Amino acid sequence: MNIFIMGAPGSGKGTVSSRIKEEFNLNHISTGDIFRANIAGGTPLGLKAKEYTEKGLLVPDEITNNMVKDYLMNLADKKNGYLLDGYPRTLDQAKAFEELTKGTDLAVDRVIAMDIPFEELTRRITGRRTCKNCGEIYNIYYKPPKKENVCDVCGHELSQRKDDNEASLKVRLDEYAKNTAPVIAYYDDKGIVSHIDASKSQEEIWSTIKETLKNK
Ligand SMILES: [Zn+2]
Repeated sequence: MNIFIMGAPGSGKGTVSSRIKEEFNLNHISTGDIFRANIAGGTPLGLKAKEYTEKGLLVPDEITNNMVKDYLMNLADKKNGYLLDGYPRTLDQAKAFEELTKGTDLAVDRVIAMDIPFEELTRRITGRRTCKNCGEIYNIYYKPPKKENVCDVCGHELSQRKDDNEASLKVRLDEYAKNTAPVIAYYDDKGIVSHIDASKSQEEIWSTIKETLKNK
């Protein structure tokens, strides 16, 4: 089973991914891992990609697509398939990947879309507070500290990450939506997308996903 997982930052993609990986014995891979492995390994594609990133340019789709395909092909242990996070980022990448993998065991079977309303995401992100002393994480809406702005565990003052504000979140999300919406629509047309309501509780989300994937 080969899966793409897509979701905005804050949609809970990470948590869900590790559970899918465990339950279904898949290789959980992010495009970041693939880039790092190719660049560190000095592969021809990695060297090309490095030329672009060093100039601060976006790596062209053709390089990215082939890098992803090579990486998946050459996994030492293919397990029951892959769970890929962060790819495809654009419609062009989605189409190219389909061409590259058509009829092979690398073709994607299922796309999980973590759908979440903007208001909910805003609360998740802008409500986030962390303790720099002990690392405890809070959310003023969902998991507030007993005393305002003070860590329950160690009594240290809580802080908020600078870019966890609504304006910066909107920029990140707009960018995400602009690129991803056409990709999801593309797979929707093929009937392989499982839309997950990511505003639900973690347990509800997980049982829906598990059912979806088991009945595939
Ligand atoms: Zn603390």
